[in-house]
Amino acid sequence: MNRFVDSLYVREVAKITDKLYQHGWDERNGGNVSYRLTKEEVKPYEDTCEVLRRIPIACSEEQLVGTYFLVTGTGRYFRNIIDFPERDLGLVRIAENGKYVDLMWGFNDGGRPTSEFPTHLMGHQTRLKQNKAQRVIMHCHPTHLIAMTFTQPLDEKTFTKTLWKMQTESLVVFPEGIGIIPWMVPGTIAIGQATAQKLEQFSSVIWPQHGIFASGSSIDEAFGLIETIEKAAQIWTTVQTQGGNIKQTITDRELNDLARAFGVTPHPGYLEV
Ligand SMILES: [Zn+2]
Repeated sequence: MNRFVDSLYVREVAKITDKLYQHGWDERNGGNVSYRLTKEEVKPYEDTCEVLRRIPIACSEEQLVGTYFLVTGTGRYFRNIIDFPERDLGLVRIAENGKYVDLMWGFNDGGRPTSEFPTHLMGHQTRLKQNKAQRVIMHCHPTHLIAMTFTQPLDEKTFTKTLWKMQTESLVVFPEGIGIIPWMVPGTIAIGQATAQKLEQFSSVIWPQHGIFASGSSIDEAFGLIETIEKAAQIWTTVQTQGGNIKQTITDRELNDLARAFGVTPHPGYLEV
C-alpha cells in the first residue's frame, strides 16, 4: 500500500479525529471511526496485494466480505492519530466468512481495530440497506448530550423534540430524530445488535451516560450530524443555567412549516399537526 499514508482518506480521518479531540469529545482512548472505502479508491495504492496480518473479529459479517474499512485502532488516543496515522489507523478488508479482517496498511506496531468494530460493521450493514452511499460510522462522547441523558427521560420522541426545539437547524439535519438504547456494556455483540436495530430508523443513536453513534455518507456528514446534535444539547444546557424558564420556543406548527420549506419528513407522529 504505497503512499496510502498520504491519501485523502487517511488525511480526512486524521483531521477529523483531531477535531473530535479538540472539541473534548474523545478523552484518552475514547471514540472510534470507521470509513468504508471502495476497491476503486484503494486500487491506486495497491502496489502489491500483500496482506500484512490476518486479525480475527468478534462477529461474522459475511455480507461485507471483500469490503475495505479505514478504522481507528483499539486503545489509541484520538489526539495522537494526526501525528502517527500509520500506527493508530489501519486499512482492513473483511476476509472469508467475515470472521477475520486482512490488514492491508497501518497498525504498524501490532495494533488492531477498535473493540467497537463489530458494532461498526453491524451498523454499516444496516445503514447500507437504507442508503447505498452510507460509508462512515463515528462514535464519540459529546459532553452536553451525555449530561442530558442523566436529567431527561430516555424516550426517543421527547428527547428528539427537545433537541429539535433548541435551534432551527436541528429538524433539518436530523428529521428522523435520534434513537436511544438502554445503558449497556460497550464492546459487546449485544450493544452492536441494539445499536444496529436503531440505525434502521435513525442515523444517530444515543448511548446513555456514554456517548453517540452516528452514521453518514461522508466524514463531514457524520461529524456535522454529531456537531448539530451536541450544539442543540449545549443550548438546552445553557437555557437551564439561565433558569430554564422558557418564555418562547419553536412550536410544532413552525417545525412543520420548516420541514415543508426544506423538503424533509419529520419522524411520523412526533409533531402535532
Ligand atoms: Zn465510547
